[in-house]
Amino acid sequence: MNERLAKISVDRYTWINASRNVEVTPRRFFFPADVEDLRLIVREAESRGLRVRAVGSGHSYSEAPKGQDFLLSMKKMRGLQKTDPATLRSAWRDRHLVSAGAGTILKRLTRRLDAMGLALTNMGAVDFQTISGAMLTGTHGTGIAKPAVPDMVRSVRMVATGGELLQIEPLQGMTDPVLHAAAHPDLRLIQDDAVFHNVILGFGATGIIYELTLEVEPQFWMQERRTLVDWQDLRAALLDGSFMEKVRGTDFVAFRVNPYAVKGKHRCAIVEQTIVDRSQQPRGLHARMRNIFATVLGNIEYLVENTIRKLQLKPEGVKKTIQLALWSTKDMSYFGKSHRVLYQSGNAVIRYGISAEFAFPAHAEKIVEVIEAIFVQAERNAAEAGLYQSAHIPVRFVAPSQALLSSAYGRETAYIDVPLLFGTVGDIEILEGYQEMMIRLGGIPHWGKHNTRLYQHHDFIRAQFARLDDWIEVRDRLDPRGTFLNDFVRQMGLTRLPEIIPGP
Ligand SMILES: Cc1cc2nc3c(=O)[nH]c(=O)nc-3n(C[C@H](O)[C@H](O)[C@H](O)COP(=O)(O)OP(=O)(O)OC[C@H]3O[C@@H](n4cnc5c(N)ncnc54)[C@H](O)[C@@H]3O)c2cc1C
Repeated sequence: MNERLAKISVDRYTWINASRNVEVTPRRFFFPADVEDLRLIVREAESRGLRVRAVGSGHSYSEAPKGQDFLLSMKKMRGLQKTDPATLRSAWRDRHLVSAGAGTILKRLTRRLDAMGLALTNMGAVDFQTISGAMLTGTHGTGIAKPAVPDMVRSVRMVATGGELLQIEPLQGMTDPVLHAAAHPDLRLIQDDAVFHNVILGFGATGIIYELTLEVEPQFWMQERRTLVDWQDLRAALLDGSFMEKVRGTDFVAFRVNPYAVKGKHRCAIVEQTIVDRSQQPRGLHARMRNIFATVLGNIEYLVENTIRKLQLKPEGVKKTIQLALWSTKDMSYFGKSHRVLYQSGNAVIRYGISAEFAFPAHAEKIVEVIEAIFVQAERNAAEAGLYQSAHIPVRFVAPSQALLSSAYGRETAYIDVPLLFGTVGDIEILEGYQEMMIRLGGIPHWGKHNTRLYQHHDFIRAQFARLDDWIEVRDRLDPRGTFLNDFVRQMGLTRLPEIIPGP
């Protein structure tokens, strides 16, 4: 191994994901600082018949980042600037395009955008992920007309097999091929819909992404209202169509439901977020801060600690704690910049939790069926196995995606999440039980959430992803030596390459 590679790597380094359920000690762990480092790493791996994977923030609960040979951290490859207009097609020059280093953390990215007078169109509930990691597993927020992260991306730069540099875009992508060829002779431009829509949601299985271009918005302000209702009322509103009207008529809508009934009722919180003009900001502290009760409790982790203690000492009590947690988030008028309002978690979540999440068509009847199946399963787990859920069930809505392996491919989608706090007794058992149940109901597990049961359901994967064969064909064509494969991709049945990858 040459001097530079030795300098930017360590051996015997054990990488553990944020939720501490995935761990690996690769042959060598690298901290590349630039694209030349990435090319060296890929060439070194291929010369020895080894495989290469990258990790972002390690905020996937799934085994997607797990790489046994060369594993690399993208943290040093960060930064954000307006996209250079020199090689853009003329129709793209007035659009809001920014190019980000793959390892840029969303929190930094949203703050940097803000300083530039810009904002992401949408984001997930937290901002600790890297932009490449968030894109590659299909991270989403809520908003039935709003894209998930991969669908906000317009161009991707990647180190592929042989250390080749590729810039990948849809056929009608932003770059003028003639201008590009003159400006970047060493960066091969591929403008191809299937290749682009493979790579943007592809777990890094075709190469190491080092930069991506996002289409963003001028900075905007939002108002949030969180109201409490009982499930019976929300159920009725779902079935008579009025709730789905609200979902379509409001910029961002989600709801959360207590899986347990307290005094016969399942409490729900509806979160509505509307884009508003800055001049509409209400006066007072309450408009600038989320419900002070929720903020304080969330940040000192009182609710989390209390829930975990309850789970250990008096598990039945957790039903009321979830009720209290939902009540404490009630809020009529939080107002702020988009990245602050879209961020939906207390600080406590940074240290806690694991979840499995499932995509269904955004049909009210299906949502009701699934929520009520969760109620039954939660009670059954408690009664038969003494296993309790420790958090509410969030339901979010997302626009159709074009990414070939998106669980929202070509359809409006409702995502139903089952999060558990760190320390929940039997957490993996609970989540695996939900995976089997949801798969039976047609729910597609999120690629970045806990999803190991999916390894046993290749028929289900085949039935759910209409473009699966296209995704596999592109992956195997771009990476015929299997340099960027890992066990996750194999166990999901997402390659046709033979198990033993030929050496150099
Ligand atoms: C507290 C918490 C809240 C969450 N909230 C949401 C939410 O609201 N919505 C939602 O959809 N998801 C959510 N998630 C899931 C999370 O957004 C995704 O799993 C996301 O992929 C994590 O990003 P990361 O940077 O940590 O990537 P990692 O988990 O490190 O990696 C994800 C995948 O990308 C690959 N990869 C990363 N960077 C590169 C690169 N540069 N080149 C090649 N491959 C690369 C990895 O190999 C892996 O396959 C949440 C997770 C946590 C822990």
